[in-house]
Order: sequence, then C-alpha cells, then structure tokens
Amino acid sequence: MKESALNVMKGVGSVKSLNPNLGEHFQKTKRRNLTLSDYVEGIRSGDRLVLSKAITLVESNREEHHELAQQIIESILPYTGDSIRIGITGVPGVGKSTFIECFGEHLITQGNKLAVLAIDPTSQRTHGSILGDKTRMENLSKDQNAYIRPSPAGGSLGGVARKTRETILLCEAAGYNTIIIETVGVGQSETAVHSMVDFFLLLMLAGAGDELQGIKRGIMEMADLIAINKADGENFTKASSAQAEYKSALHLFPPTTSGWIPDVLTCSALHENGIGEIWIKIKEYTQITKENKFFTSNRKQQNRFWFREFLAEAIQSKFYAKKGRKDIALALEKKVVEGTMSSISAIQELLK
Ligand code: GDP
Repeated sequence: MKESALNVMKGVGSVKSLNPNLGEHFQKTKRRNLTLSDYVEGIRSGDRLVLSKAITLVESNREEHHELAQQIIESILPYTGDSIRIGITGVPGVGKSTFIECFGEHLITQGNKLAVLAIDPTSQRTHGSILGDKTRMENLSKDQNAYIRPSPAGGSLGGVARKTRETILLCEAAGYNTIIIETVGVGQSETAVHSMVDFFLLLMLAGAGDELQGIKRGIMEMADLIAINKADGENFTKASSAQAEYKSALHLFPPTTSGWIPDVLTCSALHENGIGEIWIKIKEYTQITKENKFFTSNRKQQNRFWFREFLAEAIQSKFYAKKGRKDIALALEKKVVEGTMSSISAIQELLK
C-alpha cells in the first residue's frame, strides 16, 4: 500500500510501563484496597506509594480509617525511632525551603534518606498555606532518597501534631533516617514541633530585628542552633555581627538540660555556604546526647507529653459529644466570667 496521510496506520502497541519496577506494584496498590499486611510490607520495603497511602489514612478524619491506621502504626512501631528528627523554623522569607533543599541534598550525598514534613498552622485558617502554595524544593522532591509531604490540613494543632507524629513513625519504618519537620516561626506550632524532634534549628536574618522577625524569646530559648541565613553579598558583614550578638544573647539563657551548648552559625542557603557545618553540629549534638542518655530520655519525655495531650483531648471530646453539655459549660463559664459563680462550683455543677 502506498504511504498516504489518509491511510490508517497500525499504531504503536501501548507501552506496558515506563518504569518496570513501578508498574506492577503501582497497578496493584492503585486498584484495590490494601490490607494491613500490604501496608506493613509496602512501607517496610520503602514503597513510596504505599507510604503515601498510609499517611493519607493517618491524616484522614473519617472514622472508618482510624482503626486500620492505628493497626498500621502498631505494626510498624518496632521498626521506628532509628533516625534523627530535626525541627526547622523561621519566619516566611527567611529561606527555609531554599535551605532544606540544599541541606537535604548535602545529607543525601552522604548516604542519608530524608523525609521532609511540615506543620503549618495557617493552612487551617486560609486555603493558601505558607508552606504549601509555591513549588518548593523542586530538586529535592525529584530525588528518590527524599520524601516530601506537605502539612496535614484542618483540625486543631493537637490533631495536626498527632498526624505528624504518626507520619514520622511511618517514614522511619520506610527507612528514612533523617526527618525534618518544618514550621513557620509565627505561632504555637514551634512548641509542638519542638516537642517532637531531637534537634531544633532556628533560621534567622541579620538586621531584621527580632520584633520584625516575629521571633519570641521563647523560641530562641528552644533552639539548639541558630543559623543566620543569607550571609552572602552585602549582607555578609551584617550576618557576622548578628552572629556575635546572638551568641552573647544565648549566654543569658539558663543552661540546657541536654548538656549541649547552643551555638550560632551563619550560612547562605542560596550559595550553599556553611551548610556542611550545620550538619556537623547536628551530628555532634546527636553524639553528645546519645552518650549522656539525654537523647533517649527526651524521646520518652516527648512520648509522655503527647500521650497526656491526646488523652486530655480525647476525654474532652468524649465529654462534649453528649448533647447539651457544651451549652451548659458555656452558660456556667459566663457566670464565672461575670463573677457570680466561682470556677470550682461551676466545674462541680458541670460534672454533676
Ligand atoms: P521560606 O519562606 O522561609 O521558605 O523562604 P524561601 O526559601 O522561599 O526564600 C525566600 C527568598 O529568599 C527567595 O527569593 C530565596 O531565593 C531567597 N533566599 C533564600 N536563601 C537565601 C540566601 O542564603 N541568600 C540570599 N541572598 N537569598 C536567599
């Protein structure tokens, strides 16, 4: 037959899969509901798709997902904990995503596997979240040794914290030995993040003034390391003097219980300067606190803290689930505020 544009040519047979390793499992996991053992095996073998599905389950607010999510967490628990959990905070624009991108690549070249999670309190209030609306960490997100997950949306800070804590465990069981939890330095979320990480890194800018940076003294006090970012170009000298200032400010804080002395470094995430030094500091911290046993006792303390938090929240929501109780509580609260009833009698009345 003569070749012509009018002839219908036999097309190319459809390609089975571009990635032979991904193909079969992908189809399998996509099509059917996974069983508990599918989840556990998939996570343990480092299957990113199964990991993502498990995290979605943990983040789900639907009652029917809770049981399976908890079974998964229980099953993978023996394979968790073997990681360094790093909290990173700083105001929007300080350079968190630029920093995490190059810091992450640095860690990966040293043979580590990195998971980046986020806690963004603003994602509850507005649709656009500070940590989620731009394309962030583009190179890192393409790396097979990095796993990036945006902040779970909605719910109380306690709810978001619970989801993030469980996501940390899932990532650890999937073989990620370095976990970064990123948050914006503007609210209570730092305290929550601080209570779920081993090391807390505060990114700051030179010459912006603490007020302007919205950084409260309490946050500085939580930091194991302060890094003054954007120490490049004209900003270099300013960054060095800010380093000296913050160093002397840190001396005024009470000594830490970890046996670690917090320090101040400068870096340029954009020009990839000073990044290796920060990683060295974190490794030093890990070594010291593992030797003096703070590392383990701190994690136990965090487990206790979150258990009590979640227990209190669960008891409260169970209590208020009964119709009318919330209204009675509000009416009593009004009397307490007006000064016509004491707190204790109001509580006794409510509990009756
Ligand atoms: P985030 O909001 O804290 O995540 O900040 P981004 O990483 O998005 O950075 C905000 C802006 O600062 C971007 O335009 C970056 O290119 C820039 N930036 C980040 N790190 C540096 C740095 O080390 N030096 C300079 N000069 N600019 C930087």
